[in-house]
Amino acid sequence: MSALPRFACMNGEIVPLEDAKLHILSGAVKYATSVFEGMRGYWSEERQDMYLFRLDDHLQRLFDGLKIMRLETDIDLATVRGWVLETVRANQHRGALHMRLLAHLEGRGAQGDLGPVGFAITTSATERPASFETGVKLGVSTWVKITERMMPPSVKSVANYNNGRLAIVQARMDGYDNALMLTEQGYIAETTGSSFCMIKHGKLITPMLTDDILGSITRDTILRVARAAGISVEERHVGRSEAMLADEAFVCGSGQEILPVASIDKTSVGDGTRGVITADLQRRYLDVVEYRADNPTGWCTPVYRGA
Ligand code: PMP
Repeated sequence: MSALPRFACMNGEIVPLEDAKLHILSGAVKYATSVFEGMRGYWSEERQDMYLFRLDDHLQRLFDGLKIMRLETDIDLATVRGWVLETVRANQHRGALHMRLLAHLEGRGAQGDLGPVGFAITTSATERPASFETGVKLGVSTWVKITERMMPPSVKSVANYNNGRLAIVQARMDGYDNALMLTEQGYIAETTGSSFCMIKHGKLITPMLTDDILGSITRDTILRVARAAGISVEERHVGRSEAMLADEAFVCGSGQEILPVASIDKTSVGDGTRGVITADLQRRYLDVVEYRADNPTGWCTPVYRGA
């Protein structure tokens, strides 16, 4: 569930959401030439402020995406960072928040144009889904995950998401919540919008970054949180049958946070309910993102105090 905001930000200007428009002939529309970020903000009752989680890492990934997709702009990261904070303040968000940052090919140009690049920022109030406790049902997709030789899976390029879209639409038709996508070699990559992790004999096992997955910021956070909690972590190829035989599994992403996996291909993972380690990692993760745990890394950026 999410509620639309009153204002969006278009190239640094705060405008009513209904005026945040792109031309039909822009490169973003004609060729899906754009990169984006999805990130969250959390309201802290204790600190009476809104905190954006790992804002600088999301901005860096956005700019890395521009570089890989060969989009050129004079706008720098610090400028976009300021726009992000302004957009949240304009909407006066004081609750769980999801944000999209979009950098897209504007103008009326050709497929090979490098610019101009536009920036759009939107926010939405959001709620945690019931599957946070009950888990999601995954089905292994017959659509193969795009590989580094085709399109860069490590970039949040909008065009990549048509690969995932085909998979999630098919998965829903087949009675699943989401698709688990395999690499060309047949190892598990990720779902259409989240990273995959499993627990076996107390160890956290997850596909490697070179398994055609997005360098998920949530995955990175969870691996650090797990290591700090004394859980050993393995980043390696993960087989499909191995995943079905996991003691526990979960998917993760900025938007989804951590959702237990109840089943894969209609076969229960563990006993099909949220696992003990998964629930523990959810608690630890929320302590970090909601800024209850120590935050030595500066992961939580204040919105109003920083005004
Ligand atoms: N994989 C894909 C394909 C995604 O789109 C996302 C983000 N929705 C993730 C993984 C999770 O990435 P992050 O933790 O950085 O949000």
